[in-house]
Amino acid sequence: MAPDTPGRQTQETLSNLLQETRRFDPPADLAAQANVKADAYEEAAADRLKFWEQAAERLDWAERWHTVLEWNPPFAKWFLGGKLNVAYNCVDRHVEAGKGDKVAYYWEGEPEGHSRVITYADLQREVNKTANALLELGVRKGDRVAIYLPMIPELPISMLACARIGAIHSVVFGGFSASALEGRIKDADAKIVITADGGFRRGKPNALKPTVDEALANCPGVERVVVVKRTGEDVPFGEKDIWWHDLVDRQSDKHEAEPHDAEDPLYILYTSGTTGKPKGILHTTGGYLTQVAWTHWAVFDLKPETDIYWCTADIGWVTGHSYIVYGPLANGATSVIYEGTPDTPHRGRFWEIVQKYKVTICYTAPTAIRTFMKWGDDIPAKFDMSSLRVLGSVGEPINPEAYVWYREHIGGNRCPVVDTWWQTETGAIMITPLPGVTSAKPGAAMRPLPGIVADVVDDTGQSVPNGGGGFLVIKEPWPSMLRTIWGDDQRYIDTYWSRFPGMYFPGDGAKKDEDGDLWLLGRVDDVMLVSGHNISTTEVESALVSHPKVAEAAVVGATDPVTGQAIVAFVILRGDAGEGPELAKDLRDHVAKTLGPIAKPRQILVVPELPKTRSGKIMRRLLRDVAENRSLGDVTTLTDSSVMDLIKQKLPTAK
Ligand code: ATP
Ligand code: MG
Repeated sequence: MAPDTPGRQTQETLSNLLQETRRFDPPADLAAQANVKADAYEEAAADRLKFWEQAAERLDWAERWHTVLEWNPPFAKWFLGGKLNVAYNCVDRHVEAGKGDKVAYYWEGEPEGHSRVITYADLQREVNKTANALLELGVRKGDRVAIYLPMIPELPISMLACARIGAIHSVVFGGFSASALEGRIKDADAKIVITADGGFRRGKPNALKPTVDEALANCPGVERVVVVKRTGEDVPFGEKDIWWHDLVDRQSDKHEAEPHDAEDPLYILYTSGTTGKPKGILHTTGGYLTQVAWTHWAVFDLKPETDIYWCTADIGWVTGHSYIVYGPLANGATSVIYEGTPDTPHRGRFWEIVQKYKVTICYTAPTAIRTFMKWGDDIPAKFDMSSLRVLGSVGEPINPEAYVWYREHIGGNRCPVVDTWWQTETGAIMITPLPGVTSAKPGAAMRPLPGIVADVVDDTGQSVPNGGGGFLVIKEPWPSMLRTIWGDDQRYIDTYWSRFPGMYFPGDGAKKDEDGDLWLLGRVDDVMLVSGHNISTTEVESALVSHPKVAEAAVVGATDPVTGQAIVAFVILRGDAGEGPELAKDLRDHVAKTLGPIAKPRQILVVPELPKTRSGKIMRRLLRDVAENRSLGDVTTLTDSSVMDLIKQKLPTAK
């Protein structure tokens, strides 16, 4: 199977095994005051383009568009003829509206006591100075700037400075290696790199600058490297290097933002590379900002005057781009940014931050939620989290048990949980409950947002009936869609638009339940074919996680002489659960009872950790290698490669 054609091996439809009957209605007071009510769905269905025009009117345009959408499949142009400046929309217009003193970011460094409060007026000055600094270095509209920074205020400031002058930023996650950075710098042909001496990670300074130097040894196109002093450790300093404070501090804090075309590029972001060569996803200006701003306001029911919003993602991923930087700032929100890890200096750090800033909206990932479950209920119970009112999840399917735990132990059973499905390519949230409208089902992303047309289809592209499973597709263009893969239109066509002609294929499996609500079932590359049934890893993992002893599970299909593929499960036990002789049998029986005998794992392996990508997603590809006794494939995107040794050690004893 070619890496660019996900799902080729999966046949027909996906089995629909998991039954879930729990429902959580929106709290009445939230529903009554909600930004978006049920009629939005009908309005958008009646006139989708008009709906998106209204969303675009939430922004300040220097010139209005003449054409909402020009669609030459699969190439879209939104708000054609329109002109706007993203940085003006995210910063200046709030200052001009008298909100200069409003806090844009509460920045919380990892070492306790390192914190900064940045108002919109502060942000305006910093962005203007940085824009002037980039201009002094010769950066012009359309040039690419690579940004390799820890989670410090200079990261959003650099992004906004690029947006302001029309330079295209390419943020590379600060945990990536020199070769990953080199590949991304070269692919985008970046002429400037913005980095730092280092950042703080797990209580220690973590150097970044030496990694940049290693990457740049093979990147002659890079002219200058701007270095933020964060840790103060000694770093090598060469001819191309210039300290941020030497360059930026002396600039004027005035800069006139010129409007850019709605379709001018805003940024390139490489997908995390769980599969194949990273793809440079290209996002543009007007449509992107429209959809991130609208979804951030609608999906989290954002009340900019009173909410304190915290998205725990790293800005190096799309979640951080859209929901730490562009969406919240376009809406004039107050956000928290946290530099470090959830267990530094203690396992209650997240909840301490919620308590300290009185966070009202918290957006995090299933991988984090499962970790918190593993650490135990008593940790969040020590903190006052009564300020919270809406919770969000993104990144992987959320197991129903994890959803219910999050609702109960973090949300005090009063906060709606929105499970938001989207990806780097979609730019913004696509499928999700709405907190004031949807009667939510734990584990379901529920419905496409107003203005989004999605469906589940079978192998031949036919819509599956309610109760059926298959491939998720998006049937109409949307404003924040990727415009292409940077420098490779053909790969864009092949990867996303060839599997089902005329439809966008994200590479994910999904099912429609009896009510027509959508459940995302993970990437189709992970689907297992057992005795002629396509079984999703998500459903079996969720069944395992619903056992009281299991904190986290990953399942894969391993070649089997009888069934074609057999299910092999890797499980992490909850803090206080012992392994015991009967455990494997108990878990196999539990899955058979929950999903049916077809889904019963052949083998259960108790492991201390699971292999994860740097964005925290389970890497089943490597577990498949283990289950089939192969040597491991590419492990460079793993967070911690010693995890695989720990897992392999468990193998001989497991049956
Ligand atoms: P790569 O494309 O490089 O392999 P990636 O797909 O993990 O990496 P992202 O764009 O960050 O990179 O993640 C998007 C994917 O994450 C989706 O396609 C889907 O598989 C999964 N995902 C995100 N949110 C959800 C969700 N709420 N429910 C189920 N799956 C989700
Ligand atoms: Mg992907």
